[in-house]
Amino acid sequence: MTGFTLELTEDQQTLQKWVHEFSETVIRPVASEWDEREETPWPVIQEAAKVGLYSLDFFGQTWGDQTGVSLPIVMEELFWGDAGIGLSIVGTTLGVAGILSNGTPDQVGEWVPRCFGTPDDVKLAALAVSEPNAGSDVSSMKTRAVYDEAKDEWVLNGVKTWITNGGIADVHVVVAAVEPELKARGQASFVVGPEFKGKGLAQGQKFKKHGIRASHTSEVILDDLRIPGSCLLGGKEKLDARLAKARERMEAAKRGEQVQSSREKGGQAAMATFEASRPSVGAQAVGIARAAYEYSLDYAKTREQFGRPIIANQGIAFTLADMKTRLDAARLLVWRAAWMGRNQVPFSSGEGSMSKLYAGETAVWVTEQAIQILGGNGYTREYPVERWHRDAKIYTIFEGTSEIQRLIISRAISGIQIP
Ligand SMILES: Cc1cc2nc3c(=O)[nH]c(=O)nc-3n(C[C@H](O)[C@H](O)[C@H](O)COP(=O)(O)OP(=O)(O)OC[C@H]3O[C@@H](n4cnc5c(N)ncnc54)[C@H](O)[C@@H]3O)c2cc1C
Repeated sequence: MTGFTLELTEDQQTLQKWVHEFSETVIRPVASEWDEREETPWPVIQEAAKVGLYSLDFFGQTWGDQTGVSLPIVMEELFWGDAGIGLSIVGTTLGVAGILSNGTPDQVGEWVPRCFGTPDDVKLAALAVSEPNAGSDVSSMKTRAVYDEAKDEWVLNGVKTWITNGGIADVHVVVAAVEPELKARGQASFVVGPEFKGKGLAQGQKFKKHGIRASHTSEVILDDLRIPGSCLLGGKEKLDARLAKARERMEAAKRGEQVQSSREKGGQAAMATFEASRPSVGAQAVGIARAAYEYSLDYAKTREQFGRPIIANQGIAFTLADMKTRLDAARLLVWRAAWMGRNQVPFSSGEGSMSKLYAGETAVWVTEQAIQILGGNGYTREYPVERWHRDAKIYTIFEGTSEIQRLIISRAISGIQIP
């Protein structure tokens, strides 16, 4: 286990500076333009690939850091630049995480490089879990995967919604129900390559959003999509064994026998994967909040009313003090959870959820205060704080809403399966 320290290593400081410079010189100058265009900023992603910031190697090395803190540092700096563009660059890692957490070593070796492509031919990946009637309650998903044994093919049907990079990705990781009556335990993940676009997998509606507008979000329609048996992540044998166990558990529960709760057993793997990714999402929110805090601090020092800078009023100065305090508290929660996750220290009090919950709500609050400090200017699109406020709001919704994070924390601290 790597001891916890708040002092960044030389390598981490260099990494932080490098990503910050990319954000400042490449992302920030075009952030407003891509927000208005509401399109994927391909030239920025290509530039990130060219300098080595969008690549398997880069994310592999960053993930590999034993302190766990390198990934949050990268996320904070990128999203300080712009959250919509930041998500366009890191959205692929959602699909990659889906492959890493479920795939066999061979599948990981085959598919993960294809998620990024090359600097000359950049590719994206997507993770398709949510459905119109299965958002927070993923266990109720309707998308079905049926095995055609004669052809060794899986047939997928259903509609996925709000999918980051949905339809424009080369690699889609799709979660579907194999045995719906087993709920979450009856689900499996499938990897779908670009050859199936227009042949069973299609992009549905592209959503026009409140914020992170440079990030592409759309439906993914699966219509009699036939994929080879090898596209089942983890393989058929493992799935069959898992389903058999789940059936046994269900039968035992029907007979009234005591079964371990989902928190004790099967549900834990999926839960642990989500919990582990939450500090990175929290770090993205910290990046947005820091951008708004820095901007409004500068503004408050230079904007004069009643013959003095507005920061000379306690009402403004104390707000900035609170903004900085909450921002630093959010980062500390993120770094703690990132370190715990990387060093397999159990999140016994839902520390992963705490970091995402607090950072998300802090970003919304800090960006709102920033608008207030800028007054009329803050409300116009001539200044970036209104965009940061719009961008921040998604952090109380995706990757588990604030309410779902509170549910996880309250269950963890109480030991009670609060409904
Ligand atoms: C921009 C964007 C990008 C996204 N990207 C992806 C992606 O790449 N892949 C993917 O699979 N999904 C993605 N999502 C989906 C996202 O994860 C869901 O929107 C989220 O999980 C919430 O689900 P929902 O929208 O159906 O809300 P609902 O589940 O309908 O919730 C509505 C409200 O009810 C509350 N609520 C629900 N259940 C409870 C409860 N038990 N107790 C208390 N309150 C509760 C919620 O907190 C929320 O406030 C994305 C969404 C957006 C908007």
